[in-house]
Amino acid sequence: MKTIRLRKGRERSVLKGHPWVFSGAVESGEAATGELVEVCDSKGEKIALGWYSPASQIRVRIVPDAPIADLVANAVARRGDFFVNCYTNAVRLVNAENDLLPGVVADYYAGHVVCQFTSAGADARKAEIANALMKFAPGCVGVSERLDADSREKEGLPVEQTLKTICGEEPPEFVEITEGQVKFLVDVRRGHKTGFYLDQRDARATVGRLANGADVLNCFCYSGGFGLFARACGAESVTQVDISGDALALAKKNEALQHYCGTKMEYVEADVFQFLRKCRDAGRKFDFIVLDPPKFAASKGQLMKAARGYKDINLLAMKLLKPYGTLATFSCSGAMDAAFFDTVLAEAAEDAHRKFQVVARTRAGADHPVLLSFPEGAYLKGVVLRSIT
Ligand code: SAH
Repeated sequence: MKTIRLRKGRERSVLKGHPWVFSGAVESGEAATGELVEVCDSKGEKIALGWYSPASQIRVRIVPDAPIADLVANAVARRGDFFVNCYTNAVRLVNAENDLLPGVVADYYAGHVVCQFTSAGADARKAEIANALMKFAPGCVGVSERLDADSREKEGLPVEQTLKTICGEEPPEFVEITEGQVKFLVDVRRGHKTGFYLDQRDARATVGRLANGADVLNCFCYSGGFGLFARACGAESVTQVDISGDALALAKKNEALQHYCGTKMEYVEADVFQFLRKCRDAGRKFDFIVLDPPKFAASKGQLMKAARGYKDINLLAMKLLKPYGTLATFSCSGAMDAAFFDTVLAEAAEDAHRKFQVVARTRAGADHPVLLSFPEGAYLKGVVLRSIT
């Protein structure tokens, strides 16, 4: 096995359990794309194994000394509760580094597993990974992969706008899933990520619990998730806003799957930044606003610009709340930590001249565990604020 030797002192983060070795930490050694290598400290002492990626800034991703099939089987076994409690049939089975399989994401939608392989090592082992998923995921009928993740480019892997089935059945155009009392169609070919924001499951339930009787504005609605939970939980009205016509079409299709209820539904194709200003100018107010924007900061370098974006929409939303209204606001920018997000929200509240209480905090659900030694894994933060003025 080839050896990658680290610079003096750079072994520390590996020994602490961080799964990434950056190119700047490497003293010497090279290997082929995705090859299993030995990582050594500056004295040549072996400290870990990893997958080599010559094109990436993340030159080596640490992996356990264990067969791939065992790692997959263990990750699936850790989701046992999801298959027992039946709240949903849509579950993340493998959460990449956090499940000791760097760059491997596997999402289960009613028996159809859709993967993303975003590290060279993962890509090189996809057949083995898919076979293990087929074998160990309960009721699995097929395993496919999406090849369109931006992060593949950084690894020097081909990016394609297609879904390819690796083993078993091809999924249908839309896979129907259930989450609590709500049904969704998942567009596994063209939808975002692997087709659905599984990471917001707990937040959708939290929003539902607080939305009874409310006039709800769901900004960045995608396939309608938060709005459909509010509807199922007795919201008076729900306005779903997204810039993408395709997303709104899917959100409407999803509404048609639900039981009848009296909630008034409205769909608006618009830029949220502009829509919020339009509501302000028209004097339109809401009891409950959800802000779940895409990632504003892709890296630490974009943090300050991202902070301005978050402050802008949160300030506008705070001003549109009726007295005692509620704002559920999210950030999925890994570069922005929870403390900084709180600071941005506090500044927005100050400028809006309103006082808020934090009534809930949300994070990705238990099927998106975060490795304690990998803070980068905790990208998703949610804060539910209630206005008390
Ligand atoms: N809340 C959703 C996920 C949101 S993903 C859920 O729980 O499923 C972010 C969404 O924001 C995408 O659907 C994207 O089309 C939309 N979007 C991105 N920029 C936007 C903008 N400026 N205005 C409105 N929508 C935008």
